[in-house]
Amino acid sequence: MSSIEFVKIDKVYKGLANFHAVKGVDLSIRDGEFVVFVGPSGCGKSTLLRMIAGLEDISGGDLYFGAKRVNDLTPKERGIGMVFQSYALYPHMSVYENMAFGLTLEKAEKQTIDQKVREVAAILQIDHLLERKPKELSGGQRQRVAIGRAIVRQPNVFLFDEPLSNLDAALRVQMRIEISKLHQKLKTTSIYVTHDQVEAMTMADKIVVLNQGRIMQVGTPLEIYNTPANTFVAGFMGSPTMNFIKVHADDNHLTPFNGTDRQVFEAPFQHRGDATLGIRPEHIELTPQPGALAINTEIAVVEHLGNETLLYLSTDQCELPLVVSVQGEQSPEIGSSLTVYVPPSRCHLFDANGDALER
Ligand code: ATP
Repeated sequence: MSSIEFVKIDKVYKGLANFHAVKGVDLSIRDGEFVVFVGPSGCGKSTLLRMIAGLEDISGGDLYFGAKRVNDLTPKERGIGMVFQSYALYPHMSVYENMAFGLTLEKAEKQTIDQKVREVAAILQIDHLLERKPKELSGGQRQRVAIGRAIVRQPNVFLFDEPLSNLDAALRVQMRIEISKLHQKLKTTSIYVTHDQVEAMTMADKIVVLNQGRIMQVGTPLEIYNTPANTFVAGFMGSPTMNFIKVHADDNHLTPFNGTDRQVFEAPFQHRGDATLGIRPEHIELTPQPGALAINTEIAVVEHLGNETLLYLSTDQCELPLVVSVQGEQSPEIGSSLTVYVPPSRCHLFDANGDALER
């Protein structure tokens, strides 16, 4: 069984000042699942991955692979294949030797090694490169070799630590699709750390959003996007980021806090007190909508992305510019007035602690 269970996992880095990098993480990963860890720099993603691999001691809690507690197993005993951002290939060895290395160490039969290396090289379409040295390969080819080296050993679990961050944008897309295809074929439990939201959204069966050593939310990509559990997840996932407007809630009547134009509008929430309304840039409308909150703004910046245009709008209703994403090309005049509409059905509402309120 290659399911993984974290039970109250803690990591304290000992030093002059102890640093509590991972705090009470509970998480279940099913056999064959592709799980992506995301979160800001320093949130503990790599520490969690390294604890699974056995490269980092676990300070507290229990880690299970299937029913087996693995806290005290060596990295070798855990049956993990790991792929790093830096590829970590041996420069003096050929692609073939790099891929065969793990099996050679395990003293596998020469014929078995040869069969495995060629089989995996064919899957990854690097069979024509087997005699080359790493320096004679492109970045994408090197990463394929690194992945191949992990696959030949048939690990129970694959760990990927930002494997695509050194590649250019086009190659990242290609490799992302290839890793997903590979997972569909091999169905090996995989844990993938990334900064890239598109990778998280497109590759994951399950996303784990982390902040300051704690899990903020676990869910499918669409659950995370459509029903973020708190303002942290709402602000972290989605690009451009969700807009936030401070409001006062009186049952389902919401009144924006700031601004001269104090209109009350109805949204499908039951809450009393201060709250934060969240609306994604792609859900703000430029044409009047029934029951929508109308916001008067001035156009501050226009960004053309080709398939969409981003409008940054100044308004006294919120501190940061309101960002609106519009399909296609638009060229409104900077400094001109624009009224935009926030449909209640698209609103998220968060209480004073930042926790999402149910509709
Ligand atoms: P990034 O996305 O920047 O790689 P991350 O989420 O992977 O970040 P970690 O590398 O897991 O973060 O680090 C989590 C926290 O633990 C950070 O604040 C980091 O400074 C700290 N940390 C990591 N390794 C050590 C160490 N060996 N000693 C002390 N603190 C450490």
